[in-house]
Amino acid sequence: MSITSLRQQFIAGETTPTKVLQALATEIVARDSKTGAYLSYDLDAALNEAASADLSLPLGGIPIALKDNMNVLGQPCTCGSKFLAENYRSPYDATVVKKLRAAGAIPFGRMNQDEFAMGSSTENSALQITRNPHDPERIPGGSSGGSAASVADGTAIAALGSDTGGSIRQPASHCGVVGLKPSYGRVSRYGLVAFASSLDQIGPLTRTVEDAAMILQAIAGYDPADSTCLDVPVPDYLSGINDGVKGMKLGVPKEYFGDGIDPGVRKQVEAAIQKLAAQGAEILDISLPHAEFAVATYYVIAPAEASSNLSRFDGIRYGHRTANPADILDLYKKSREEGFGPEVKRRIILGTYVLSSGYYDAYYGRAQKVRTLIRRDFENAFQKVDAILSPVAPTPARKIGAFSDDPLREYLSDIFTLSANLAGIPGISIPCGVTDFDGGKNLPVGLQILGPHLGEAGLLRIAKAAEA
Ligand code: GLN
Repeated sequence: MSITSLRQQFIAGETTPTKVLQALATEIVARDSKTGAYLSYDLDAALNEAASADLSLPLGGIPIALKDNMNVLGQPCTCGSKFLAENYRSPYDATVVKKLRAAGAIPFGRMNQDEFAMGSSTENSALQITRNPHDPERIPGGSSGGSAASVADGTAIAALGSDTGGSIRQPASHCGVVGLKPSYGRVSRYGLVAFASSLDQIGPLTRTVEDAAMILQAIAGYDPADSTCLDVPVPDYLSGINDGVKGMKLGVPKEYFGDGIDPGVRKQVEAAIQKLAAQGAEILDISLPHAEFAVATYYVIAPAEASSNLSRFDGIRYGHRTANPADILDLYKKSREEGFGPEVKRRIILGTYVLSSGYYDAYYGRAQKVRTLIRRDFENAFQKVDAILSPVAPTPARKIGAFSDDPLREYLSDIFTLSANLAGIPGISIPCGVTDFDGGKNLPVGLQILGPHLGEAGLLRIAKAAEA
């Protein structure tokens, strides 16, 4: 069920938050052994909160699953890593969790992810495999794969994910659910384990566009604990959501429809664009000339920031510590060697390299300049159009293991999602049909809608029209 239909049932007295949690727990036991979306859940803690849920609040009594990189007091927060899986318990609630609780929601469930959110398949989780509920041989996408898979599988009502380069939108696309990455600065990241601080954002994964709006309403807004969080008013995301697209100008960038897109994806995305045109939107061809540099730019900036952020995992402050170190240096080295998986090590090595003296200007400095060009492309586009339409990913969900010895190929598949993070603009992925791909049948395809900075209300309105 969606949040909205569940709320109606709560208010009509047809069910209770306690019953819903018990039903979810039954579904998890019955089905999640196949999907592997949940890393853990604390049913007793959630039932305790359900007993006193205030159903008059906007998310009163609604259980929300969390990617395992957001802190909830007393709960695990593994980030899909061995480093934090052994003994870390969160000493506080992330701001998004505080805000969800203030809106009446109940945090329930810790969802699998690529280790430290590095990846697009959830295969980089050091803890377990998550499968796509539409086809168990396939990835759910990532890095918020557990969040997307559980919502698609009916083992969660809604979830939060984090998106540094596509990690909400791409798994939403692969699993056939709605995923919204808000603008940089719209949602506080305090209590989210940092990956790349100039790119990270938290957002909802839901069954419906309206549900995404309801969660964004609850989690958006100023937080003095995150200095990048903007002190600007939060609009009412639901009030104009049904206004439709008549008269809106929607841009289709030619760079996002070139070679390398699966024909089935192209067909469904183009069909979705035609349907928006039929509802009165004006479709315009646009250009984002620096789009092709997004992958190269992102894979310098994100690892650079990650190498710095992950230095806190040193075997001393928290997390894994090696058993018998020879000396202090050996303790750092062995703890990190044992605690991090291969992709995380690759990112730390890449990031340390591009930041090192003598290479900084050639790589990191240059990437920052190209990032500015990418941001300007969008600023220019939004002079002409209200939003931009594109695929989310070049193909539907691929098979588990297909790219395991080819990280570069994996990075290239992020081509359509990375730019929004580099530019700080919001993006939403909504289901727009299914297609056959590489032996798989009826695999979900996502339509991506990108908007200007802080333009979430417009995105939700277009997404609602497309959903209808
Ligand atoms: N796939 C991208 C990466 O591996 C983005 C991940 C994310 O958004 N967290 O870095």
